[in-house]
Amino acid sequence: MKKATHKKTKAHNATLVLRTIYHRALLSRADIARATGLTRSTVSEFVGELIQAGLVRETGPVASAVGKPPINVELEPGSRQLISIDLGEDEFRGALVNLRGEVLHRHSLPLGDLKGPGALREVHRLVEGLLALVGAPLLGIGIGAPGPVDPRRGVIKLSVNRDWVNIGLKDILESRFKVPVHIANDCHVAAMAEGAYGGHGIDPSLVLIKAGEGVGSGIVLGGALHSGEGHSAGEIGHLCVDREGLPCSCGNRGCLETVAGLPALLRQARDLARRTPGTAFGKAAKAKGVSLAMLADFNARGDREARALAQEFGTQLGAAAASLACILNLRTIVFSGTPVLFGEPLLEAARAELQARVLPEQARETTLAFSMLGPDIVIRGASALVLRNELDLP
Ligand SMILES: [Zn+2]
Repeated sequence: MKKATHKKTKAHNATLVLRTIYHRALLSRADIARATGLTRSTVSEFVGELIQAGLVRETGPVASAVGKPPINVELEPGSRQLISIDLGEDEFRGALVNLRGEVLHRHSLPLGDLKGPGALREVHRLVEGLLALVGAPLLGIGIGAPGPVDPRRGVIKLSVNRDWVNIGLKDILESRFKVPVHIANDCHVAAMAEGAYGGHGIDPSLVLIKAGEGVGSGIVLGGALHSGEGHSAGEIGHLCVDREGLPCSCGNRGCLETVAGLPALLRQARDLARRTPGTAFGKAAKAKGVSLAMLADFNARGDREARALAQEFGTQLGAAAASLACILNLRTIVFSGTPVLFGEPLLEAARAELQARVLPEQARETTLAFSMLGPDIVIRGASALVLRNELDLP
């Protein structure tokens, strides 16, 4: 018993040293001892082991005013590589990334309407393509998948587009490729990416609301993903916002997705264009049809109709953010995906809706912002999932 506890403490301290080095640039062993509260000799022992494992490197003596110059250590980001995969709705995107979640190589496979075992073979092909490029020990494979996922068992419970039901992708890939595999819902891994690489500091707590074809969110508490008892925490896309609303793919009516998903956004734009045929927006829509790029472009130019759409979109997201802010009382709620294309007008509308729906104190404490991570957010999040599970980083 005592031995087990000692082993646990040792592992915890080793992680503490690695995390300290990961999060701060150029530290001496004395700096690490100060930051962690561990003794100098304990720190030296762990740093020695990390250097031995190749995860950390010494950067040579630096000029010091007095005494022996200290030798600094830093993370060796290229010492391990990870395969990150975004099983998107239209294509499977993969990348080889380093320990900082930086993309080294990419590979993607368009899917069309490939389903079932055929789509599964494409996952194998994607992994094989990336494995051929691996240039350092492989830490694992991380995967973000749309729809409900059980991350503990690594099972994709349902993927409507791919016609997958209860696919044990973790077991399938681990037995084939002999490396650890971690899988989670794509909104959940996007939230992990925001927590790890979004610039919110060590062990952040935040909610990320991701909108694209669908709408979902992920919750990170103290740096760790909160996936919920049934692994569907933050599944706001099918939260009813209008009982009398349009039918949704899930069988209910008026889900958030029916007003804030991309098909809904384009439908609203077409309706508005029909109602305002004499405006620049109406004319452009009639000539070329509506697209996301067209809406974003008109909104950026201050077009009245496009602005109204962006504001309505912001209002819907603000209402969703209000529910989350009220329940979780976290300081940071971040939007990613299509909302980012609509800039400040969307954010202002979302803030106004938040203020209208929660206590003034809660509204003041909640910051709404855009993610800066761009279209790689799920890829980077899948790497954060592996890092967290394998090395207790970032
Ligand atoms: Zn629904």
